[in-house]
Amino acid sequence: MHPHLLPQFRAAPRSISVIAPVNTPSPVITIDGPAASGKSSVARLVAERLGYTYVNTGNMYRAMTWAVLDAGIDPASDPASVATFSASAPIDCTVTDGQTTITIAGHLLTAEELNSDPVNRAVSHVASVLEVRNALVAAQRALQAIGPLVMEGRDIGSVVFPESPFKYYIDASEEVRSARRRAQGHADQVAERDRIDSTRKASPLIIPDGATVIDNSHLTLDQAVESVLTSLKSQGLPTP
Ligand code: C5P
Repeated sequence: MHPHLLPQFRAAPRSISVIAPVNTPSPVITIDGPAASGKSSVARLVAERLGYTYVNTGNMYRAMTWAVLDAGIDPASDPASVATFSASAPIDCTVTDGQTTITIAGHLLTAEELNSDPVNRAVSHVASVLEVRNALVAAQRALQAIGPLVMEGRDIGSVVFPESPFKYYIDASEEVRSARRRAQGHADQVAERDRIDSTRKASPLIIPDGATVIDNSHLTLDQAVESVLTSLKSQGLPTP
């Protein structure tokens, strides 16, 4: 072998091993499903068990909705104003110690505000607006920089992180989901929200390609979490 080829040959694998950790994105476990399927509780606990950061993207759409309503816009009848508003909405989303915090113009949104009846009624209309989705999807993708994530929503496996090998779709019967919502004290039109979420043009709720479907109608929370962790383990993800 020509002596000059040797260093080049050896340099290649060394440079790959240096670059690979920087270029390899952190894993993202995507959890999608309809309203009140229990996906938030499952996602939060899976994140806790793995030491990953939990991200609830529904709260981002709820925050935008709160701000839209606060600005006096009716999202059901005026999607154009929602689109214009969302382009300059002063929303900040930060994740610290696994907690996602959302502020609007410096105002920290409380769980009561995010889950209020007006927000429940309007959120699917706001989430149907393409400009809103583009802004929030960009913010969601940017969160991958903070490390491994469990991200839950409606389009996480299909649109936000379609390349993730770790995708789940958590479903439950409509009766079970409505009962869960009532038990949480929300007079929420779950069926109507699902109808809008599943039929909208922009990123409708679907079972993402390659997702593992879990029917959570009759599982305990522990059983649902275990089934996700077992599946992750079988895919080679180190789990506790
Ligand atoms: O998860 P949650 O029920 O709080 O979500 C509230 C609403 O936000 C959904 O009904 C849907 O309209 C919207 N959403 C969405 N895409 C996501 C997360 C939530 O469209 N990734």
